[in-house]
Amino acid sequence: MLNIVLFGPPGAGKGTQSEKLIAKYGLVHLSTGDMLRAEIAAGSALGMEAKTLMDKGQLVPDEVVINIIKSNIDTKPYAKGFIFDGFPRTVKQAEALDDLLNNIQKPIQLMISLEVEKAELIERLLKRGESSGRSDDTNKEIIENRINEYNNKTLPLKDFYKLQGKLCPINGIGSIDEIFNSICQAIHAKVS
Ligand code: AMP
Repeated sequence: MLNIVLFGPPGAGKGTQSEKLIAKYGLVHLSTGDMLRAEIAAGSALGMEAKTLMDKGQLVPDEVVINIIKSNIDTKPYAKGFIFDGFPRTVKQAEALDDLLNNIQKPIQLMISLEVEKAELIERLLKRGESSGRSDDTNKEIIENRINEYNNKTLPLKDFYKLQGKLCPINGIGSIDEIFNSICQAIHAKVS
């Protein structure tokens, strides 16, 4: 079992690196952003409620994402491990995740934190917005809101995992393969 939190601000490359990690380690990808966008596409009440906040670049309530993650973990008992991408984003979510995983004796082993500075993030997100179709990637003000939400509510999680001895900061600038190699080294150092 390999349970990883892939952490970093919007535009740090979490989705890209997740895909490579899934291919290499056979993990199940749990991205709350993807799940919420699927709810919006399905037109569910939950999706509609989340959309109002996502369109402004604000976080959706903790209970909403905690419930989505819980039902995903519960329905995948045979997973080799999970990559948590975009979750947790608040200390409350991190505590809930610890509870869920401790209950099944499969705690998080490490938090990979992709480090990228703000100017680079904004540039990457605006570029992604040209092709991603994500409305929250096209407007600079919304992007700024997302980065502010990250700095205010999500960044404290680095200390949360550091205290548990699980924080692995990785330079998120460089080629996709260079960054991926650094991530793999961090995983092997921690897990083998
Ligand atoms: P992402 O695809 O991870 O960038 O998420 C897109 C948007 O979905 C965020 O800006 C939030 O509005 C919402 N979202 C995704 N994951 C979470 C989470 N764990 N907690 C709260 N809001 C979230």
